[in-house]
Amino acid sequence: MLVSVSKLFFSLLAHSRLLKALASRVAMRKPTGIVRRFIAGHTVDDAIGAARPLEARGFTATFDHLGESVHSLAEAAAATRDYLAVVKAIINAGVSRNISLKLTQLGLDVDRASAVDHLRKILELAEPAGFFVRIDMESSRYTGVTLDIFETLWQQGSRQIGVVLQSDLYRSEADLKRINALGARVRLVKGAYLEPRSVAYHRKADVDDAYARMLKGLFTEGEYPAIATHDETMIRLAQRLAAEHHVTPDRFEFQMLYGIRRDLQARLVEQGYRVRIYVPFGREWFPYFMRRLGERPANLGFVLRGIFSKSA
Ligand SMILES: Cc1cc2nc3c(=O)[nH]c(=O)nc-3n(C[C@H](O)[C@H](O)[C@H](O)COP(=O)(O)OP(=O)(O)OC[C@H]3O[C@@H](n4cnc5c(N)ncnc54)[C@H](O)[C@@H]3O)c2cc1C
Repeated sequence: MLVSVSKLFFSLLAHSRLLKALASRVAMRKPTGIVRRFIAGHTVDDAIGAARPLEARGFTATFDHLGESVHSLAEAAAATRDYLAVVKAIINAGVSRNISLKLTQLGLDVDRASAVDHLRKILELAEPAGFFVRIDMESSRYTGVTLDIFETLWQQGSRQIGVVLQSDLYRSEADLKRINALGARVRLVKGAYLEPRSVAYHRKADVDDAYARMLKGLFTEGEYPAIATHDETMIRLAQRLAAEHHVTPDRFEFQMLYGIRRDLQARLVEQGYRVRIYVPFGREWFPYFMRRLGERPANLGFVLRGIFSKSA
């Protein structure tokens, strides 16, 4: 309940142009400020700079050039060019060849066929260079179309792509069975968007129960599951299921967000598990940042003080 209220509050703030303009001007300046805790910086070099020390400590990374819901084909084409430049920069830097992207950033709201063309362009550069490309999952408005596009590309032979399923959506357990049957990789998350009750569980206990059921589906029928959560109960369950089903630590990975539960991230690496850190960067950080804040009701006071205080 509290999380729903918090998600609602921050999703309303996410639409405020004034707050976005204000935050964009001041909040990223301070290297130790609240925004920098979650966002690696504005540029791909900032992101690579953030990933290097993580990789030196045994983590891998996935790079997300932040941006979503572009409203013209010109913006979508520009976002695609940016991603191509990101792929090249990652190759030159020699860091993890792994990116995460959103289809609305590539123009899904403007024209589906163009968004698919844009994704294909990125895959044509990234796949031969050994990249894995994860299509992030956005709000439930896009679930069907995102999975359709993914499944079409898969049928056409793309194998270095994967999707994300959200345990808060009622439909996800059925989606998981279908994606597992393909032999494709799933990143399992709880879901970051404020969804209507007609499509999603609202009680945390229901979202967690669904997450646990889906974990079992992944460890019995899945291909290289990505367990993306900071919830220690779910992490312990994943470890138990992996042991029970003889899935060795090289056949799955944990994934966590940059700046969240760094203690837990380090502990898992020390225990010999694979841990990939999701490293977001770019000028369009505001909606992503608002989702992170909405996940924790305790963040409310924290952010208001952080953004509006003179020191931010
Ligand atoms: C690698 C990765 C990729 C993701 N990709 C997507 C995606 O494509 N689509 C999507 O809808 N969602 C995505 N998410 C977000 C996800 O859906 C959840 O909203 C988010 O991970 C919080 O849920 P949780 O599983 O950590 O569990 P929760 O039960 O929400 O949190 C468990 C504990 O983690 C810590 N924690 C969690 N969130 C925060 C926070 N924001 N600030 C501080 N502490 C926190 C707290 O200690 C909390 O008690 C992704 C998450 C990860 C880790």
